[in-house]
Amino acid sequence: MSSQNNDIELSVIVPIYNEEQNIDYLFERLVSALDNLNLKYEIVCVNDGSRDNSLKYLIENHHRNPNIKVVDMSRNFGKEIALSAGLDYAIGSAIVPIDADLQDPPELIAELVAKWREGYDVVYATRRLRQGESWLKRFTANAFYQTIICMSPVPIPKNTGDFRLLDRCVVDALKQLPERNRFMKGLFAWVGFNQTSIIYDRPQRYKGVTKWNYWKLWNFAIDGITSFSLLPLKVWSYIGIILSLISFLYASFLLLRTLILGIDVPGYASLMVAILFLGGVQLISLGIIGEYLGRVYDEVKGRPLYFVKEFYGDQPKSQQNPEIK
Ligand code: UDP
Ligand code: MG
Repeated sequence: MSSQNNDIELSVIVPIYNEEQNIDYLFERLVSALDNLNLKYEIVCVNDGSRDNSLKYLIENHHRNPNIKVVDMSRNFGKEIALSAGLDYAIGSAIVPIDADLQDPPELIAELVAKWREGYDVVYATRRLRQGESWLKRFTANAFYQTIICMSPVPIPKNTGDFRLLDRCVVDALKQLPERNRFMKGLFAWVGFNQTSIIYDRPQRYKGVTKWNYWKLWNFAIDGITSFSLLPLKVWSYIGIILSLISFLYASFLLLRTLILGIDVPGYASLMVAILFLGGVQLISLGIIGEYLGRVYDEVKGRPLYFVKEFYGDQPKSQQNPEIK
């Protein structure tokens, strides 16, 4: 365990996008769970461009309890980037990202901290059940984890969200990763360190609706796969070799048959199938190259990850990470 030049031991990061119905109940439970721990803590809330009254409630809570700090982003950047902003502003020796909808029970932080005190640098919370989720959500989540586990060179834990405890050394490592495409689940695993897990039952969202739909999940999955594996890019040379081999064999067969049995004109159907099939394969491979190329383009533009409108808190600016902001 390492510590910084401040006495805050635990920072809890809460990304918030349109969560006005959850905020007061969240702080009620979070603050009482943290008070029980008897350590110095801060709660860094990142308002990710909410369009409702979330910011107003957050500022009210900040005035009531100065341990609650608010980073107000200039617009909605998405949860992954909100989390990165939270990591930049948090100053504790251990950091726990948590969802605002109480799907990550705050009472579990005690267990995470206990493991941290045993000497682990990363303690992730793996969900046992996926309560109240449709079979389609469970099936797609399972397919996603299977795919990413097969493809990624680092083991990404299954059924594990962003709810986990990270030691300061892990956060400092994460802050050195310069990429704009921040697939946090993967990055947390990629940095390594001493990891362990606890199991929990993930409850349903307290109020409000999830911000994810299947299209967003699909794009999230593509982001994850492309940022952690080159397999989709490399596989096309092998598919090409196999297809060329098959067409060579078929061509030899056609040649021999024509030599032995004479010219045989019919073959429109097989010709069409072969052309359409190959056209499809080529478009898929081009599309996949495009996915990677687009991401390379995003990275080389080197735009800042996010902009902050206002920070409601007391830490000196020098402690924040200047280069990413
Ligand atoms: N969130 C965010 N920015 C977004 C979408 C979501 O900061 O663009 C926050 C949201 O407020 C919540 C957390 O990310 O605290 C998880 O969101 P949600 O509950 O919608 O995701 P799910 O639990 O369904 O995966
Ligand atoms: Mg949720």
